[in-house]
Amino acid sequence: MYQPRPGDLLASLDTPAMIVDGQLMEENIARLMARFRETPVRVRPHLKTAKSPELAHRLLAAGVIGCCVAKVSEAEVMALAGIEDLLITSEIVGPPKVTRLVNLLRRHPRIKVVVDSQVGIQVLSAALEVADLHLNVLIELNVGQNRCGVAPGEDALALAQYIASMSHLHLIGVQGYEGHLQHIHDLQERTRRCREAMHLLTTTAAQLRTAGFPIEIVTTGGTGTAEICAQWEGVTEVQPGSFLFMDTDYRNALGPVYANALTILSTVISLPSPNRAIVDAGLKSLSIDSGMPEPLGLPGVQYQPAGDEHGVLFWDKQTNAARLQLAIGDRIAFYPSHIDTTINLHDTYYVCRNGVLEAIWPVTARGKVQ
Ligand code: PLP
Ligand code: MN
Repeated sequence: MYQPRPGDLLASLDTPAMIVDGQLMEENIARLMARFRETPVRVRPHLKTAKSPELAHRLLAAGVIGCCVAKVSEAEVMALAGIEDLLITSEIVGPPKVTRLVNLLRRHPRIKVVVDSQVGIQVLSAALEVADLHLNVLIELNVGQNRCGVAPGEDALALAQYIASMSHLHLIGVQGYEGHLQHIHDLQERTRRCREAMHLLTTTAAQLRTAGFPIEIVTTGGTGTAEICAQWEGVTEVQPGSFLFMDTDYRNALGPVYANALTILSTVISLPSPNRAIVDAGLKSLSIDSGMPEPLGLPGVQYQPAGDEHGVLFWDKQTNAARLQLAIGDRIAFYPSHIDTTINLHDTYYVCRNGVLEAIWPVTARGKVQ
C-alpha cells in the first residue's frame, strides 16, 4: 500500500496530489478572524469547500461559532466528528433526506436548517411530530441570486406564520445568500449591490421581529462579500468558505485578500512535441467549470484537460520545451480555478510546510452531495 507519512518530503509524494500550504492556510484563517474580531458579527464558515472535520475543528479553535454545511450527508460527517452547531444551508426535500435529518437530530439537537416552502415545512413538521423532536429553522430569502428562497417582505411573513402553526418547528432566523455577487471584480459595484441585498435581508428580519417572531440569526455572505455584509447593521453571521484555500477565479476578482493555499501537483508524463507536454492531471483531478487551472511558475503556458486522466500544457511555437526547461518526470503544480469542485475530486489533503509533509487529512465529506 502507498502510505506517505508526516516527515516525508513533498518531492516524494505520488501525483496527482492535492497539496495544502499549511502556513498560508493558517494565515488565511487568522486574516479572516482578524477582520471580524472588532465587529459584532460572528463567523459560521461554510464547510462545503473544505469537507473536512479536521479543518472544521481548526476553525472552531480559531473562534468561529459553528459551521454551515450544504447537505444532510455533510452534516452527518461533521456531526459524527463532534461538530454540533451546524446550519444546513439547502432546503431538505424528499422522504429519504427527511428521515436522515430526523435520525441525525436525535443525537445532534443543535442542527438547524433553512426552509422556503409550505410543502417543505409541512413534511418536516410531520416527521418531527412522529419522532417527537424539535427543529430550529431559518427562512431562506431570495436577495437577488434567484436560486432558492422566498421573496423578502410579505411572502416571508406568511411563511413565518405557517411555521408558527407547526408545534415542532421553531423559527430562529433568516438566511439570504448573495452568491451572484461574490465574484464582482469592482469593489464599489460589489459593495453597492451587496448593500441592496443586505437591505432586503435585514428589513425582512425587522418586519418579522415586529410581527413577534424571535429572529436571532441573520446569516449571509461568502468570501467575496462577508466583510461588506458584516458592516451592515442587523447581520449577525457570515458564512464564507473559499477563503481557506482560494482559487484563481476568486483571486482574479478580489485580488490578494487571501492567499492561494492549495495546489494540485502533477507530473509530466510525456513530451510529444516541442510545444506540448502531457501531465497526469485531467478532468478527474482539476475542475474546469470556472475556467482553466493555472500552472505555477510557467508564464505563457496554458493548460487544457486532455481527457479524464490527462492534461495538456501548451505554449507558443517560438518557445520550445527545452527553453522552458520542461522534462519528462517534472512536477507541475496548479492553482485550481474553482476550489469547491476541485476539492470534491480528491480523497486526501497533503498538508505541507517548507517542502515537508506535515499532516494527511481525509476529505471525509468528499462526494457527500445528498
Ligand atoms: N453560503 C452559501 C449558501 C453558499 O452556497 C456558499 C457557496 O456557494 C457559501 C456560503 C460560501 O461561499 P464562498 O465559498 O464563495 O465563500
Ligand atoms: Mn464555489
